[in-house]
Amino acid sequence: AQKAGKNRFAWFDPAMERALQVRSALESGLRVAIPREEITPYFEQQVDLASGRLHGFEVLARWEHPTHGMIPPDRFIPVAEDAGLIGDLSLSIMRQAFHGARDWDPGLSLSVNISPVQLRDAWLAQKIIKVLTETGFPAHRLEVEITESALFDNLALAQSIVGSLKNQGVRLALDDFGTGYSSLAHLRALPFDRIKIDKSFVLSLNQSADSAAIVNTILRLGESLNLPITAEGVEDAAIEERLRAIGCAKAQGWLYGKPLSIAGARRLLAERRLI
Ligand code: C2E
Ligand code: CA
Ligand code: CA
Ligand code: CA
Repeated sequence: AQKAGKNRFAWFDPAMERALQVRSALESGLRVAIPREEITPYFEQQVDLASGRLHGFEVLARWEHPTHGMIPPDRFIPVAEDAGLIGDLSLSIMRQAFHGARDWDPGLSLSVNISPVQLRDAWLAQKIIKVLTETGFPAHRLEVEITESALFDNLALAQSIVGSLKNQGVRLALDDFGTGYSSLAHLRALPFDRIKIDKSFVLSLNQSADSAAIVNTILRLGESLNLPITAEGVEDAAIEERLRAIGCAKAQGWLYGKPLSIAGARRLLAERRLI
């Protein structure tokens, strides 16, 4: 009853009504953009800190709208989740990314983001495996990144999806560790292979004693649990050096460049003889 009251109030609030219009425009835009593959994968380098070598890429969705320009994922992913479109969007991104990456150096991995909403789809693992098979991208080169508490919506289903993927050799990362919803309890709920430290701690690592303490603690935790750590949001060499010194396994961020289109990633790999 409280919810209905809120909605009725919102209906007469012009700012709220405007927001709803923008949302429904985004939703109808998505219905067209997904089948047209206007939302494409971009590739953010992930670097092995000990060797300095390129380890692989995180796949990030980008929507280059024909009239509105670049729309960031933080705006359209929540709309896709609410509209029931996130499953199709995610599989489209994966299909394009796996297809683009299948002839890259076999040492390179891809990490894809899975929305918690997708973990309610009992067929998710089968759908991902089908895209892997169709594109010829090997399952052992794929890592799936999961965040947030919706894992616990239906933990048994999440565990079964993850179990089917891991049986095929797909690896599992806990994303945004340390922020709101990712907690210690998550680490026991699913068989994670890696922890990712959110950029909010990494960006301030050299300015804030609190951030440094948190990053150190996560690294020690990873050591005890035998889970390697990836730090995101590495923007400068001083932070990179600090992370290497304290034993962080991998890093990603603007220090290594902005996320690249498939064509951009191909150029980079060709220069480095990894294609
Ligand atoms: P995320 O998974 O935590 O991804 C990292 C975000 O940090 C990306 O933003 C990336 O571009 C940005 N970033 C990387 N390095 C740096 C850096 O050095 N400094 C700063 N300031 N930022 C950096 P992006 O691409 O805007 O993505 C935002 C979020 O949208 C992602 O956060 C992820 O949760 C979500 N997302 C992106 N693509 C997908 C997708 O295909 N599916 C789903 N479900 N979510 C996605
Ligand atoms: Ca991620
Ligand atoms: Ca995230
Ligand atoms: Ca993050």
